[in-house]
Amino acid sequence: MERLWAPWRMEYIKAPKKMGECIFCTKPRDKDDEKNLILMRGKLAFVIMNLYPYNPGHLMVAPYRHVGEFEKMREGELLEVLRYVRRSMNVLKEVMNPHGFNIGVNQGKIAGAGIVDHVHIHVVPRWSGDTNFMPVIFDTKVVVEEINRTYAKLRDQLTSKIKK
Ligand SMILES: [Zn+2]
Repeated sequence: MERLWAPWRMEYIKAPKKMGECIFCTKPRDKDDEKNLILMRGKLAFVIMNLYPYNPGHLMVAPYRHVGEFEKMREGELLEVLRYVRRSMNVLKEVMNPHGFNIGVNQGKIAGAGIVDHVHIHVVPRWSGDTNFMPVIFDTKVVVEEINRTYAKLRDQLTSKIKK
């Protein structure tokens, strides 16, 4: 993951962070899913796009409950979270045609977690040569347009009735 070159991650580092704010709690509480890049909502878990992606189509799946550790998730949460990971992978394959995926949890600051106290699984589609490709879309404006376009496509597929 570290080899991926994602310059807009700098924006994330520079963005002022409100004290005690957890985006995995505040964003689902808000009703504007499009603004918050929430792709899909379930009973216990939801799918959200990463605003500071490692790659286009970088998603995160999290339980609604503010729980910091993967192993503290309840059975129902675990099942729904993993089902959404699977569904996200199927949809990403359909929409973006990746060559592979990185799926993972960064738990604890030492492991590189940006948000340490609300567990979330990263789903990152990978393409051969993507580490070389990323500098081409260095422009933040282009990245935001790209995210919005991808959001619409992924949301349509994720929320479609067809079983994935
Ligand atoms: Zn939270």
